[in-house]
Amino acid sequence: MTAIKTGSRILILDFGSQYTQLIARRLRELKVYCEIYPCDAPLARIREFEPKGIVLSGGPYSVYDKGAPGLSAAGKADGKTASGDLFGLAVPVLGICYGMQYLARRFGGTVISARAREYGRAFIRRPADAKSALLPAEFMGGAANQKANQKIEKLQTWMSHGDEIGKIPKGFRLTAISHNGSPAAMEDSARGLYAVQFHPEVAHTEKGIEIFENFAYRICGLKPDWDMHSFLEEQVRLVREKVGAARAICAISGGVDSTVAATLVNRAIGSRLTCIFVNNGLLRKDEAVEVVRAYKKHLKLNVKLVDAEKRFLSALKGVTDPEKKRKIIGREFIRVFEAEARKVRGARFLVQGTLYPDVIESVPPPREVSGASGSAGFSSTIKSHHNVGGLPADMKFALIEPLRELFKDEVRALGRELSVPPGILRRHPFPGPGLAVRVMGEVTRERLDILREADSIFTEEIHRAGLYDEIWQAFVAYLPIRSVGVMGDGRTFDHVVALRAVTSQDGMTADWYPFEPEFLAHVSNRITGNVRGVNRVVYDVSSKPPSTIEWE
Ligand code: GLN
Repeated sequence: MTAIKTGSRILILDFGSQYTQLIARRLRELKVYCEIYPCDAPLARIREFEPKGIVLSGGPYSVYDKGAPGLSAAGKADGKTASGDLFGLAVPVLGICYGMQYLARRFGGTVISARAREYGRAFIRRPADAKSALLPAEFMGGAANQKANQKIEKLQTWMSHGDEIGKIPKGFRLTAISHNGSPAAMEDSARGLYAVQFHPEVAHTEKGIEIFENFAYRICGLKPDWDMHSFLEEQVRLVREKVGAARAICAISGGVDSTVAATLVNRAIGSRLTCIFVNNGLLRKDEAVEVVRAYKKHLKLNVKLVDAEKRFLSALKGVTDPEKKRKIIGREFIRVFEAEARKVRGARFLVQGTLYPDVIESVPPPREVSGASGSAGFSSTIKSHHNVGGLPADMKFALIEPLRELFKDEVRALGRELSVPPGILRRHPFPGPGLAVRVMGEVTRERLDILREADSIFTEEIHRAGLYDEIWQAFVAYLPIRSVGVMGDGRTFDHVVALRAVTSQDGMTADWYPFEPEFLAHVSNRITGNVRGVNRVVYDVSSKPPSTIEWE
């Protein structure tokens, strides 16, 4: 069941496209609330969502494959709709790619293997006399008030399909044709059925956002009423209702998600939320003190700082394998958190900063060997994600996840609404195991201290140069080797550190940041001059792939 009750609600039914989340992003940019359900979600669940519009996504299957994914209540493959099927809900439907092909079959048209498969850029044009409320006005020959020179003859779209519509179903009209002559869009406005073969949700499709705008505002009659202010009020009310007079706990890390989640819950239940910040000794210079101070001073959170440095460092003694390090840190964290949580009497709820991409039920890609076999072949799987998973079985907490409907940029917007300081909202991502994965090899206090000093110089210089927001992540890695140097006429045999700075959209791919040579020279100078034990600084010029952003 969904928690959100705004007026504007669109449901996206997922046939397994890699772009399904982008459809949701585009609609939410238009301030229309939407969720993604697997295509075979039961009709009762769909009804309960009360969609004012439905989008059928693309997908990797062919609609004529045996066992290809379908809707749970599609109705008969004829021209009619019935009250017991999805189309009987009488809400407008937009089919994209596979979604279009699915509509074509459902309404009595045909889908065939394409004469010309289309991948990537494709231009579409308008058939003579075609009209459409969905496609951009300039493309359709311009609205009455539009100047003739604004007319677009050819629209660039992005395609990814090997099948195409053979015969358009009765009642539908062709509204766009690709440069290869394939049907690129069709609609039956009387029944509120719209379809495009291309992907309006991807950035490379020109005026793609206008297509969603037309669908949501014009065709479904929605208003842009999904905003962070109303979301916040609603969530605060829901958290209050759920927690009642009980208490809640939350592990906070200083990162964006846990901070925003805790601040929201704090607004709902005040000091009945206990936040636990664990100093595992693997944090950056002065981080524990500064973060906790910001939490108390600006956000008025009830935070407990737990100093567990010794415990983590002694558990990590002698360990060099990166996976082992991660496991040990995870295990120790659970133990420390558990002990603290038990001290909070009456705590029945655990707050987590889980985001929407972690909970979307996804339709897996076709199986390579056996192929899709009936609905069991693609039934939905739920990715579960727990930041504080692995708590002992006798510690039963009900979860509060106020961000589970949000994407990352929406969490930042919510944070602004909650007056979370910009310094926290803009912070670069920091790995859970902290500096332990930035000290290559064994983690010791001495190495951590060297790293902390070097890292703080690098970060300070990046801020000073005004580059912090351009960079996705920047840090220093400590290398477990020594190299020969000469300092003050004496020979040294000292440590090497590597600077790393990357740009990225989402952390999935990344490129190294092209600093000016003067900048690198200055940072290198400051580090070797001020951090005892370092005589060499190198800059990492690897992208992801083939490297990763972090070194371990
Ligand atoms: N698999 C179908 C095709 O190749 C649909 C592709 C899609 O939805 N992107 O035509």
